[in-house]
Amino acid sequence: MGEILVFGHKNPDTDSIVSSLVMANLEKKLGRNAISCRLGSINKETEYVLNYAGVEAPKLIESAEAGTEVILVDTANRKEVLDNIDELKIRKIVDHHQVAINTGYPLYYRAEPVGCTETIMYKLYKENGVEIEKTIAILMLSAIISDTLLFKSPTCTPEDEKTARELANIAGIKIEEYGMEMLKAGTDLSSFSIDEILKLDAKEINLKEVKSIIAQINTASIPDVMQKKNDLESGMQKVIDEKGLDLFVFLITDIINSNSQVIALGKNANIVEKAYGVKLVENTAMLEGVVSRKKQVVPILTENA
Ligand code: MG
Ligand code: MG
Ligand code: MG
Repeated sequence: MGEILVFGHKNPDTDSIVSSLVMANLEKKLGRNAISCRLGSINKETEYVLNYAGVEAPKLIESAEAGTEVILVDTANRKEVLDNIDELKIRKIVDHHQVAINTGYPLYYRAEPVGCTETIMYKLYKENGVEIEKTIAILMLSAIISDTLLFKSPTCTPEDEKTARELANIAGIKIEEYGMEMLKAGTDLSSFSIDEILKLDAKEINLKEVKSIIAQINTASIPDVMQKKNDLESGMQKVIDEKGLDLFVFLITDIINSNSQVIALGKNANIVEKAYGVKLVENTAMLEGVVSRKKQVVPILTENA
C-alpha cells in the first residue's frame, strides 16, 4: 500500500501542524500508511506545544511526485499547499474554512464551521472508535486554544469549548494556565528577522480584484511590536513591490485585550479605513475588538474592496 502524505497549509500554524499529526495517527490506527508532513517551519507557539507533548515535528516537504496520495487538513485552498496539487490525488480534506477547491473526482470531504480543525478531528476519532490518548489530547487541545485565542475569538463555537474541556480532562491540563503560557510562547519574535515576522502567518488573498496579503502576529504588548514599525513597513513595501500587491495588511493582535493594531500599505490601503471607519495615521490604526482574520477581516475588507 502506498504512502499517504498528510499536510496543512503553508506558513503552518499550530492547527495545521497538529492536524497533520492527529490525522496521520488516526489513519495509521485504521491501518493506512499515512505520514505527517508540514509545508514550512514551526513557529514558537507550536514549538512550545510539541515540546510539552513530547512529539516530533512532522516531516518538512517542499514537493511531492505526481500521483502521490494526500490528505489536506486545516485548508482546502490549492494556493496554500504544494504548487503541483493538481497532479496529486487528494483522498480526504478535513477543514474549517470555506470550500475553495473542486477536484473533479470524488473524495472524502469534511468541513464544519467550527473554530478549529481539532473539533472535527475529535469527532472523527469518536466515529471511528479510536481512543484519544493523552499525547493526542494535548495536541488537539493546544490547537483549539490557538485557533480560538483561548475561546475569545468570535470564531469560537460552544462546541470548540466543550471539546477543549473534554480534551483537558484527558490531558490533565488546566486550560487557562496552560493556554496563556502557550499563547505567550508564540509572541516571542526575538529570533526572527523582519522578513520572517511578516511571513510567519501570512495569507495571500484576493479581495475581489485587490491582490493582497493579510499577515497576523500575536503579542502581549502592541507597543513592543510597534517599536519595529519602520522596519516592518520597509519589509512590507519590499513584498508589495516584489509581488505586485495592491494591499498589505499586517495585524498585530493583542491576546490579552483582544484588539489589533493594523499597519496597512499599498495603493488600496484606504479599504481598511472604509471597512472599519478609521483613519490611518502614518499607515496605522487601532481596530477595537478585532482578533479574527477569517471572521472580522477578510469578509469586511472584501465587502469594501
Ligand atoms: Mg490554520
Ligand atoms: Mg485552523
Ligand atoms: Mg490562525
